[in-house]
Amino acid sequence: MTSSIDRVVIVGGGTAGWMTAALVARVIGSRVTVTLVESDEIGIIGVGEATIPPIQHVNAVLGIDEAEFLRETRATIKLAIRFDDWGAIGESYYHTFGAAGRNTAFCSFHHFWNRARAGGYAADYWDYDLNYLCAREGKFARIQVDDPTWHLPYAYHFDSALYGQYLRRYSEARGVRRVEGLVEHVRRDAESGTVTTLKLRDGSEIAGDLFIDCSGARGLLIQQQLNVGYEDWGHWLPCDRAMAVPSARTDATPPYTRSTARDAGWQWRIPLQHRIGNGLVYSSRHMTDDRAAEMLCSHIDEALLDEPRIIRFRTGRARRQWERNVVAIGLSSGFLEPLESTSIYLIQSAIVRLLHLFPHAGFDDRQIAEYNRQSQTEFETVRDFIILHYHATRRDDSGFWRDLRTMAVPDRLADKIALFRATGTLTQDPPDIFMEPSWVQVMMGQGIVPADYHPLADGPSDAELAAQLRDLAAMKREPVANMPLHDRWLAAFGGAMT
Ligand code: FAD
Repeated sequence: MTSSIDRVVIVGGGTAGWMTAALVARVIGSRVTVTLVESDEIGIIGVGEATIPPIQHVNAVLGIDEAEFLRETRATIKLAIRFDDWGAIGESYYHTFGAAGRNTAFCSFHHFWNRARAGGYAADYWDYDLNYLCAREGKFARIQVDDPTWHLPYAYHFDSALYGQYLRRYSEARGVRRVEGLVEHVRRDAESGTVTTLKLRDGSEIAGDLFIDCSGARGLLIQQQLNVGYEDWGHWLPCDRAMAVPSARTDATPPYTRSTARDAGWQWRIPLQHRIGNGLVYSSRHMTDDRAAEMLCSHIDEALLDEPRIIRFRTGRARRQWERNVVAIGLSSGFLEPLESTSIYLIQSAIVRLLHLFPHAGFDDRQIAEYNRQSQTEFETVRDFIILHYHATRRDDSGFWRDLRTMAVPDRLADKIALFRATGTLTQDPPDIFMEPSWVQVMMGQGIVPADYHPLADGPSDAELAAQLRDLAAMKREPVANMPLHDRWLAAFGGAMT
């Protein structure tokens, strides 16, 4: 037995740092001390406002009250992302957190729908999706029933700065020690190369056993000290900048994110209770910053609340996200662009993985390798899902879209698309956060409609299938009629700011 891991030190107080502090304190805080150091001078990236449903597990583990959380972070409900102009200019579809129809054993709903579509009697695919029906009408209520027909999975849009402050209060109340200061020097053990102590500008020192690098894209420990290297995915995901600006809120808050494809990237619109977050993600090879600012602002109708600001990024991942006694979480571990709001989820997943593989007495290389193997697979599956959006397009109105629609994509993705196109079958990679309904929606939403379907979909006659689909659409619509508008629900639930 080597020495035990008693002192956890987190560098960085952005979303990654405070989520890590809160979860480590909550789950294993009786066994370790947690110190977080952050620099007010550097600040946080200050974007990252849209999430996906697993965020609810974080709140559940932390024991957070949902109404309080909504109020404190000025959050709204997110049921879907609406994608405009992605498959072709003028087309729209939703990637919802729900699922269309109802699956039968061995045969997913989209096979039945595809047969009915070929017969000319299917409604729009999304008309069988409760998340879509609610999103379209701007409605929401929490539905708690066992029947999956009416499951309404949701996530949140929140103010990232307020989220960090909220988690900071939570963490400090549970014993996390916060130190404000700039880390200037890092001391390492001469023999093993492990990090031993952080030296701050004011001369103070923080010693630790396990260091969690949440220092953002600079990767203060994982890159600047341990030089693990970076795998660059810019050839598949060429957007490398964002121009972000908040605007005034509108009267009604839609319960979904909007993503609109533009000449050389895409624009987000994230509705919060007190403002709207806007940003243009673009490729600097295809668009100048001036043009990006002009394009962003010309597509915002409300008053701007600030000057647009540029954020530079590089898509890819740290080659090893755990090295020696340093684990990189958040932007220091890599970045997949924000198209599917996956970064906060990847933070969550990294923390959960670390907690599962938490070292007891010293560091075991096999444990570190297992962590790195899981992280790599997860990043790659999310990466492929994001590439799909750019690649599965019929747009050819700019060099950007022509490059992306004709590029060679990773083999696994190419195989997945080809199989779906021919048969309607979707291969499911086990650790993929995006399940079959997500892949089906994006593929079909962007114009990949399967040429065939599963033989079990031939079971009912045309008349029977048409009646089943009619009933299903009516069942899906049933709860929507009595559902309140999203803003009304927020107020009635106690989640609206006062
Ligand atoms: P940061 O917020 O950069 O925090 C770094 C911390 O490290 C700061 O506290 C800083 O002070 C500290 N620090 C750095 N160096 C030192 C030092 N020397 N000494 C002391 N402290 C130091 N994710 C989503 O899930 N959904 C989204 O909608 C989304 N949108 C995005 C849009 C854009 C344009 C970008 C670029 C990212 C987006 N993300 C999104 C990602 C998300 O913003 C990040 O994953 C999240 O904010 C976590 O950032 P972080 O904590 O790793 O880094």
